[in-house]
Amino acid sequence: MSATFFTSIMPEKELSGLQTLPLELQLNIAEYLDYGSLLALRRTNRHLHNLADRIKCSDLEKSTFVRAAEQYPQHANNFGCYRCYRVLPASEFADRQIRRAYGKGNAKTLNRLCFDCQWWCRYDMLPRMSTCS
Ligand SMILES: [Zn+2]
Repeated sequence: MSATFFTSIMPEKELSGLQTLPLELQLNIAEYLDYGSLLALRRTNRHLHNLADRIKCSDLEKSTFVRAAEQYPQHANNFGCYRCYRVLPASEFADRQIRRAYGKGNAKTLNRLCFDCQWWCRYDMLPRMSTCS
């Protein structure tokens, strides 16, 4: 199919206020966002997703965000993974990863890993799945 076909049936893209600014200025603004705000920005659209991915966050900032997020009422039955920095349902963790010392707010909380991350650890590959790195 030709490009003309798609442009004739699809509305022209509308840019958000941020996207009308030069890319360098967009990056300067995004650098002021905390990790949680960058995650929200990533969900806006493809352009802002890619923009947020270019901003570096420290592991400490990501861990702090996940530790706070897993305390939110909507995450009562969810737990944070401190490798991929996602808050996931309990079913995504081995029982020993969410009980006792690994429970929320306990001594080994920051060592908790989801099944995906445990699998990668077995092969010593340890990728960072979080995009804001
Ligand atoms: Zn994980």
